[in-house]
Amino acid sequence: MTSERDIPLDRRDEAWGRLVLAAQKCEKCPLAPGRKNVVFGDGDRSTRLLFIGEAPGAEEDEQGIPFVGKAGQLLTRILEAAGIDRKGIYITNVVKCRPPGNRVPSIEEMHACEDILKGQVALINPSIIVCLGATPTKWILKTGPGESISKIRGKWFDWKGIRVMPMFHPSFLLRNQSKKKGSPRELTWIDIQEVRDRWLECR
Ligand code: URA
Ligand code: URA
Repeated sequence: MTSERDIPLDRRDEAWGRLVLAAQKCEKCPLAPGRKNVVFGDGDRSTRLLFIGEAPGAEEDEQGIPFVGKAGQLLTRILEAAGIDRKGIYITNVVKCRPPGNRVPSIEEMHACEDILKGQVALINPSIIVCLGATPTKWILKTGPGESISKIRGKWFDWKGIRVMPMFHPSFLLRNQSKKKGSPRELTWIDIQEVRDRWLECR
């Protein structure tokens, strides 16, 4: 991937600003008319660690900030427990507008949003991407149906020179409360510590 870090900061700021504007004005897919807010992303874009979720939910649509509802609050607590300050990383979604009833975004919607995500990845230029759940994992790693999250979570993949780790989605953890050995919560705790350790190495 071309290193956007070689571009002077003011030029990167300009490009970022253009991307934000493009997202705010976007009407490329059927989600546009139903949104209250475009949920572009949140955090520090000078970070090396990028988290990508699926799409905004009701609370995110309301506030214009990703991962602020129940699942988001759990994500924030998991990050904090691992010593990762949410403000020090960047968090976004594959799709920037809320799908009705929180359904999984369609291929068409993900395609329509792809340039925004690609632009964010290029301008942030992260060393590590964490994919939360099946949607970003499939979209980024092009994984097939046999490669479920429970099989590939916790493993490192290479995508254009970026280390990518799939993890369980926090809403899946809300539905699976057990913390027993081998439970999604326990495995996520292992995964987030691995991510933190690799992140500390590349800061
Ligand atoms: N789930 C997601 O995938 N993203 C959010 O921003 C909130 C919930
Ligand atoms: N299926 C998903 O889509 N995400 C998870 O985190 C687990 C199962």
